[in-house]
Amino acid sequence: MYTANPRSRPLRALLAGALALSALALPAARLASADAVEFKNGSRLEGRIISESDDEVKFTTADAGTMTLRKRDLKLIERADKDAVKADFARQAAAAAALQPPKADAHARLAEWAALHGLRDEAEAEWEKTIAVQPDHAAAHAALGHEKVGGKWLPADEAKRAQGLVKRDGKWIPKADAEKLDRGLVLVDGKWMTPDEAKTAKGLVKVGDRWVTAAEAAEAEKKAKADAERKKKEEEAARNARHDAKEDEALLKELAAGFKITPGEFYRLATDVEDAKFATDLVTSMDRFFPTYNDTFGVKASPKKLLPILVFKAKPAYEAWCRAKGSPPGGYGTYLNGHPQKPAVLYFDTDLRATLYTARHEGGHQFMHQFVRDDGGAWFHEGFGTYFEPDVEWRKYPHVMDPVRAALRGGKAFLPLADLISKSSSLMAGNQEMVYGEGATIHWYLLTGAGGKYKTAYQEFLRKGSIDSVPALEKALGVKLPDLEKEWKEFVLAK
Ligand SMILES: [Zn+2]
Repeated sequence: MYTANPRSRPLRALLAGALALSALALPAARLASADAVEFKNGSRLEGRIISESDDEVKFTTADAGTMTLRKRDLKLIERADKDAVKADFARQAAAAAALQPPKADAHARLAEWAALHGLRDEAEAEWEKTIAVQPDHAAAHAALGHEKVGGKWLPADEAKRAQGLVKRDGKWIPKADAEKLDRGLVLVDGKWMTPDEAKTAKGLVKVGDRWVTAAEAAEAEKKAKADAERKKKEEEAARNARHDAKEDEALLKELAAGFKITPGEFYRLATDVEDAKFATDLVTSMDRFFPTYNDTFGVKASPKKLLPILVFKAKPAYEAWCRAKGSPPGGYGTYLNGHPQKPAVLYFDTDLRATLYTARHEGGHQFMHQFVRDDGGAWFHEGFGTYFEPDVEWRKYPHVMDPVRAALRGGKAFLPLADLISKSSSLMAGNQEMVYGEGATIHWYLLTGAGGKYKTAYQEFLRKGSIDSVPALEKALGVKLPDLEKEWKEFVLAK
């Protein structure tokens, strides 16, 4: 057997050899019951402790033989017989405790011994006893992880706090930094900034609510621009397709000199009112109103041709033209569904606003006839024509609401709902105001009242139901007519 003397050979070479051999040669069972030493450099030897003095350990391994190791090179001495180590400690602890007067170094030495022999809790207790005897014992404080702040030894956490540090995510950082973190700031290259500034510093750009690279932003901008241009072209194309110059010419041929055409998105106006602003404003207003017709009936109509509106500067000329076309002129306007272009026809009434009441009314007939249905009685058609008139909340449309309210309060003009729905066209003579007003307010109630509970069913009834049938309406809405009449009256009379 080769006998090594660690003092005569470099320790590292010896240990490397010993480790390699022992790992190969020792069966697992013997490893478990072996003593072991661990060096401060991390190396480990397994074998048997022969003896131990204050400074040295005599240690033998099967392969490297017996050697004398200096305790100051060791981090851990691991005896297989743990009970013996504990008993050894207990004996030494009793001796240290018995000293009179107490000696700090005796406890300190025992603490070191306990630590070296793997008795962590016992070591800590002896370090505490060391400090109890000698409060400024530096080694004991260091071993316990204490730090000296302003001449005072403090436990590690207290020391950090005393230094103005706070703990964040397991790390001690200056309090000022923690406050910045709490405010949501981030540290980038030694500079505090907001998350947005940090992203900007990294060269990112915000597009909508997303951060992207400058290249991605440029790409997105390019795409958005292209999309917008495409959409604009599509809209223009749709408008151009709708605007048929031949129809303009045909219409102008039927009208006196002085009429001009102003095309919009959905409508085109033919008028002899010379004010160009009036013409543009009327067309624009009607274009903006067009979606309301769609929304009212729950449809998505998109006219293939611009819908014509004729506005005569003078009422007599309007009346004469209607008669010439074989249609009796309405009081304010009319919808000429017998004409090839099916125009809404009216005359300029006081100002743009008043003229628009009629334009929306006749535009309503035009829309319903072309995109909803062309049957049904006056309560349906004139009710809606009237319903589309106001540019204010319905309750504030006195010219219709005042007579309707008076009738609902027991005025003799009142038409029971059953009559209104089933006989409205034959009732028109002598009852026009009530047919218009009651029709408009029943539409108003069923589309917007009662928390909207009738809206969808009523829209479907308007599109496909038997429009003048009371039983069909009751079935569609799931309500009996007397109850509906009561609800409608209360709704209209409220306020
Ligand atoms: Zn009408």
